[in-house]
Amino acid sequence: MSIAVNFQNVSRHFGQVRAVDGVTLDIEEGEFFAMLGPSGSGKTTCLRLIAGFDQPSTGHIRIFGEIADGLPPYRRNVNTVFQDYALFPHMTVGANVAYGLMIKGMPRAEREQKAREALSLVKLNGFEQRRPSQLSGGQRQRVALARALVNKPRVLLLDEPLGALDLKLREQMQEELRSLHHDLGITFVFVTHDQGEALSMADRVAIFNEGRIVQIGTPSEVYERPHTRFVASFVGSSNVLTPDFAAANGGPRAWTSLRPEKIDVLLPGEIPKTGQAIVSGQVSSLQYQGAVVRVAVNVAGTRLVATVPTGAKTIPDGGTVSLAWDRSSAVVMEPE
Ligand code: ADP
Ligand code: MG
Repeated sequence: MSIAVNFQNVSRHFGQVRAVDGVTLDIEEGEFFAMLGPSGSGKTTCLRLIAGFDQPSTGHIRIFGEIADGLPPYRRNVNTVFQDYALFPHMTVGANVAYGLMIKGMPRAEREQKAREALSLVKLNGFEQRRPSQLSGGQRQRVALARALVNKPRVLLLDEPLGALDLKLREQMQEELRSLHHDLGITFVFVTHDQGEALSMADRVAIFNEGRIVQIGTPSEVYERPHTRFVASFVGSSNVLTPDFAAANGGPRAWTSLRPEKIDVLLPGEIPKTGQAIVSGQVSSLQYQGAVVRVAVNVAGTRLVATVPTGAKTIPDGGTVSLAWDRSSAVVMEPE
């Protein structure tokens, strides 16, 4: 497998701010790779470094094996879909998409043909003569995508491309981006602060915090096996058990992650499965969430949250319940 993008101990400092702080990373060719992290964790800076809009303070980036130091953006075989789309409002959709080809000196008929092909990839056939102001948010997003794809990049960089769309449209575009990735076979590097989006779309996810990658793996690896408390709470929601609580309930004395859906809520008289850890406490809140009910339980001062499929059982608010979980569901984490 060849490596599309490699970071070798890359940092980018702005004065005192370590926007990117010692990142080492391989992105494989053809991969759908997500960079996930809270606002300010260095994701956009990493994309700008790959695109060549910015240079590392220290370290090196390779693109398809070639050191990219000082290489200008147009020589990198990489294109970006920007967070705010950055379309030219006074130009037609067709001219927006063909802009890069015009700058390269491609003759008009040829670049118009290529723009039509790119617009067809994003299902905007026949929109060439419109202006960006005459499009919906979702359509503008597609134009931005077409404008990046028209250059036939080997790596497509996407900076929170769906952030401005409403939920329904976002879910539709998530599917379309997945199938576009599949059809084109190129490398996608997708930045998002939305953990659900990263987990559902990416082949692998890098989780960023304060300019560093704190964990990297497939969606199920980072969800099922979070290495740190930060990852456990940022990727999905989790019960983070203190070393004392974990040790008191059959685990090693270490910070431990326990996902709410791994906990069974037992009513008085219900029996746990063999070998399960079991505690009891008082229900402190019930939250209806459609498909599941979130049940918060106070266990001798520790709050544990479990999710129960809606309609599975009637849990009394304020009542006493037992919580049971397989010991293998309790994931021991690093001390941090
Ligand atoms: P993200 O995309 O994860 O939200 P960014 O990469 O945009 O994060 O920013 C990371 C950090 O670097 C932030 O603290 C941000 O304020 C800072 N930063 C980014 N660009 C600049 C810049 N040009 N000058 C100074 N600070 C910057
Ligand atoms: Mg950003």
